[in-house]
Amino acid sequence: MSNIVAIVGRPNVGKSTFFNRLTGERSAIVDPVAGVTRDRHYGTSDWNGTFFSVIDTGGYVIGSEDTFELEIRRQVQLSLDEADAIIFMVDVTEGLTGMDEEISLMLRRTHKPVFVVVNKADNNARATESGEFYALGLEHVFTISSINGAGTGELLDELVKCLKKEDVVEDVPDLPKIAVIGRPNVGKSSLINVLLGEDRTIVTSIAGTTRDAIYTNFKGFGFDILLVDTAGLRKKTKVYEDIEFYSVLRSIRAIENSDVCLLMIDAERGFEAQDMSIFRLIEKNHKGVVVVVNKWDLVEKTTNTHKHFEAEIRERLKPFDDVPIVFTSAVTKQRIFKTLELAVDIYKNRKTRIPTSKLNELMLPLIESFPPPSVKGKFPKIKYISQLPIAFPAFAFFCSHKQYIKDGYKRYLENKLRENFNFTGIPIEVYFREK
Ligand code: GDP
Ligand code: GDP
Repeated sequence: MSNIVAIVGRPNVGKSTFFNRLTGERSAIVDPVAGVTRDRHYGTSDWNGTFFSVIDTGGYVIGSEDTFELEIRRQVQLSLDEADAIIFMVDVTEGLTGMDEEISLMLRRTHKPVFVVVNKADNNARATESGEFYALGLEHVFTISSINGAGTGELLDELVKCLKKEDVVEDVPDLPKIAVIGRPNVGKSSLINVLLGEDRTIVTSIAGTTRDAIYTNFKGFGFDILLVDTAGLRKKTKVYEDIEFYSVLRSIRAIENSDVCLLMIDAERGFEAQDMSIFRLIEKNHKGVVVVVNKWDLVEKTTNTHKHFEAEIRERLKPFDDVPIVFTSAVTKQRIFKTLELAVDIYKNRKTRIPTSKLNELMLPLIESFPPPSVKGKFPKIKYISQLPIAFPAFAFFCSHKQYIKDGYKRYLENKLRENFNFTGIPIEVYFREK
């Protein structure tokens, strides 16, 4: 199941400002000069319990004025192919432009939900000027201000109606769903081809009831698992292959449809900023993760090479560094099955349910010996803990004065949970609730 929302539109209409508002990622660089590459272009958001991924396509438009048009067309086309809903942003202060009309022509042909979002309506006078955008011939038109938030609630209410709720049951066998994720050329298809090329395995394609999920059942060598989106990985679509935006969209989709992700990196290049973004995205989606350092055959090794390599990666993954790191080669087939074994272990960790009595027996004494520090004379007191009945490990700590419990203490509790139970490779959530 996946929910991807793409934001398209001309440069400078306010896409990344709106993106930041949705994802809460203020660290993205917003620059009034069009065409500046931005740091962060994708994140996750939720509205009234519906979770979705958001992509700011503008973050991928790099180039001069004359290449913009072509680039924007590409992003719009890709969004149409890959996203579940599209936000088409326009700027009320500039009015309707020729480029807006061209984009709307592309968008009118799709059956996917498209929302025209007239931005920069910071006050009523501006809001009344949004009428001209109905001429674009698209059904849903919303007027908002990304800067002060006006109108965004109404927009999101309608948007989430078009998205899937978390509890949609799919017609897919209940097996570990494993996705291979990573930047282009790290060796994802090579790995899949090694696995699926083995003739002793039984391989069946399963299309999920939701239109986007494609799984391959890999059975043999003691495994019975579903590989996510393998059709796309085996036969590459040459047209889009080189476009970063495309691979990001594919990654998000695969992450959302999986239980465990094999995050593959290129041993010759090391753990790069883009690998980090994908890692954080897996974490935010609460999926299991194994870091796979591929092309290990190309690295010159001495005794401690892999130890250093591993330490360096782990340092970067902090605070979520309780993650297996494995060194592979899709060419020599080194540790390919080891990788799958790790993925299946992690799948099991993700399903771990700890009995409430055991949880309280173990955690309450630890909390007593190191209680949350008092703030402004208030002593937050944790009385009771229970694991929430959801797909990933999440724990509710029932307490008083929850607003006075600091992040540092939350990390302490998470560390204690990790020390006492096996959550390797799994992001866990700690919530505080007042009785
Ligand atoms: P993008 O190129 O479409 O991603 O546009 P940006 O998000 O970078 O915004 C372009 C400029 O418009 C920036 O200077 C923003 O501060 C400004 N802007 C974005 N949203 C609003 C809004 O709702 N009201 C006003 N007044 N300015 C906005
Ligand atoms: P993808 O874009 O992530 O699917 O990457 P590919 O599987 O297409 O691999 C990109 C290139 O790297 C191809 O030329 C592969 O033959 C090569 N490659 C993949 N895995 C390995 C490996 O483990 N060792 C070496 N030496 N080359 C590899």
